[in-house]
Amino acid sequence: MPLYEYRCKECGELIEFRASMDKKEEMLESLKCEQCGSSNFAQVFGGVALTGTKSEGSGGDLPPGGFSCPGGACGL
Ligand SMILES: [Zn+2]
Repeated sequence: MPLYEYRCKECGELIEFRASMDKKEEMLESLKCEQCGSSNFAQVFGGVALTGTKSEGSGGDLPPGGFSCPGGACGL
């Protein structure tokens, strides 16, 4: 059964629930934020995607094809 993650749009609380595909909408309708009681949620996809987007700008990954000399002057 897939795990779904939703973030409360009101207070940012993370809510997780497991449901089969056909029960997902049903679960979502009855879902309430434990913190503020809101039923306003935005789906979080994996969480990995969020951190992945962030680390992309931190310069952790090497650019494709380019090492230390993008011009190829070093003979690599
Ligand atoms: Zn909330």
